[in-house]
Amino acid sequence: MKVVLQNLTKIFPSRNKKSKEEVVAVNDFDFEIPDGKLVGLLGPSGCGKSTTLYMISGLQKPTSGRIFFGEDDVTDLPPEKRGIGLVFQNYALYPHMTVKQNILFPLQNLKGADKMTKEDMIKQAYEAAKLVQIDNLMDRKPNELSGGQQQRVAIARALVKMPRVLLLDEPLSNLDARLRLQTREEIRRIQRETKITTVFVTHDQEEAMSISDVIVVMKLGVVQQIGAPQDVYDSPENLFVAKFLGTPPINVFTGRVEAEKLYIGDAAVLDVPGVKDSEKVFVGVRPEGFIINENGPLECRIFGVDVMGRDVSVVSTHEASLNPTVRSIIDADNRPAPGAETVRFLLKPHKVFLFDGETEKRIYF
Ligand code: ATP
Repeated sequence: MKVVLQNLTKIFPSRNKKSKEEVVAVNDFDFEIPDGKLVGLLGPSGCGKSTTLYMISGLQKPTSGRIFFGEDDVTDLPPEKRGIGLVFQNYALYPHMTVKQNILFPLQNLKGADKMTKEDMIKQAYEAAKLVQIDNLMDRKPNELSGGQQQRVAIARALVKMPRVLLLDEPLSNLDARLRLQTREEIRRIQRETKITTVFVTHDQEEAMSISDVIVVMKLGVVQQIGAPQDVYDSPENLFVAKFLGTPPINVFTGRVEAEKLYIGDAAVLDVPGVKDSEKVFVGVRPEGFIINENGPLECRIFGVDVMGRDVSVVSTHEASLNPTVRSIIDADNRPAPGAETVRFLLKPHKVFLFDGETEKRIYF
């Protein structure tokens, strides 16, 4: 089931009676979520990702714009008529019910033609439980389960009605690091098996990159970029997207362009054919974009070398860097000589991005 968002906008009135300032939580969001794909909505706190999800679910009504599930316009339908499954960060299980009763609950509430026999309900509940591998825990109460198991129950409960669209709002936030990893792989597996179109909200870029077919990066209610995770990482359209994706984060320098050469400080670090002269550009260099070379044009002062196994992370400083330190990932065999105070780098052109000094939009070369 594809999901189409058409010029979706949500404006919240001001909460403060004296000020008229309203909040544009989502601004003109236009996007077609392809059938059967997992889309990650990604962005910092307050960027409007949850509001977008709640509008898709029907929990919130858009100020303007339309939402389609396939060809059906669902904009004015209440959540229970949309055929969605919702999973929240805090599981929201009924504490007095067993796992089985929790999963059965949505089926018991079906009305009219959708009403099911008891046997069919139980069969379907066990199928959903099997999918998330909790069918051996059906008689326990939620407080007898780990966080990860509780979240699986919540996912089973969302899946049991075989929703047209599955909506997940930060479903992994309450889990510890190991369980997060395990559960996110689980969600990916379940999504692949069921092929239910899924929207996954997170502020964690690594999480979104690892499980999504498509990511949508948002900032202050406005979509910044949409694409396959690797494509967005490899070709960010603006400085915000470049900074938001990647660990360690991208290094940003101020620079300038003169006669198709990019300068950081006094050093001409790269040829940038076709780029107009500019007094100020932002230069983003991915940590893997540095090559240590004694004739390299970019000289940095070494601050420390962190051992990471196969690679080392050379932490250095440069006066044109906007971050306090410059982080480069270097093959351990090519690490700087012990005791060296400075290091010289060549830059890999495809790991360097230029952004306009005013608009912060990408300048392609
Ligand atoms: P987080 O990760 O912190 O949940 P988010 O990206 O999901 O953030 P939203 O919850 O969608 O962001 O909020 C977007 C903007 O809308 C924020 O500025 C928020 O303060 C505002 N907002 C959200 N809900 C309401 C509301 N009910 N009334 C007024 N403003 C709201």
